[in-house]
Amino acid sequence: MAVQKMATAPLQKYELPPLPYAPDALEPHISREQLTLHHDKHHQAYVTGANANLEKLEKGRQEGTEVDMKALLKELSFNMGGHILHTLFWPTMAPAGKGGGGTPGGALADRIDREWGSFDRFKAEFTKTAASVEGSGWAALTYNNMTDRLMIMQIEKHNNHVYPSSQILMVLDVWEHAYYVDYRNNRGQFIDAFWNVVNWDTVNKRLENL
Ligand code: MN
Repeated sequence: MAVQKMATAPLQKYELPPLPYAPDALEPHISREQLTLHHDKHHQAYVTGANANLEKLEKGRQEGTEVDMKALLKELSFNMGGHILHTLFWPTMAPAGKGGGGTPGGALADRIDREWGSFDRFKAEFTKTAASVEGSGWAALTYNNMTDRLMIMQIEKHNNHVYPSSQILMVLDVWEHAYYVDYRNNRGQFIDAFWNVVNWDTVNKRLENL
């Protein structure tokens, strides 16, 4: 039997995905300057970080150099979490009145009604969740396939408190870097503005495609 050769092509690097709309498309709720900084600088930093972490891991495998696995995997989890969450975040939004805002329909609306009783109750709970994230983190709407329920979660930094087997449907970044240009330290105003640009179609499709 022929011995299979190991693939020699280099493993894929992570890349910053482009925004799915123009950088000023979410104004006045999120300004061009705020969105550009967030996407081009902050998201890029997690992509760069994750690639650097993976290179270090790869170097350890190839050259047998000593790798502090605990520290490296912690950093990688932070950077990968940042990259994945931001990649989910951008399409969670759309220009207000052009796909953004309003209320969800379809399967998502039914699920929300079943879990919270009404959209308004869901919205209030998600708002409270986002507002009360301690320090830097995210609010997330998730579906858990073991319990067959929607759940709202807080994510600390980029990578803590996500329950295993949860699929993320919708995220809101409440790191200060997400709103400081537009709202200074007023996270509550940013969360209120976010509801005007939620792309319910994206969130619904993520649920339907599970
Ligand atoms: Mn961010």
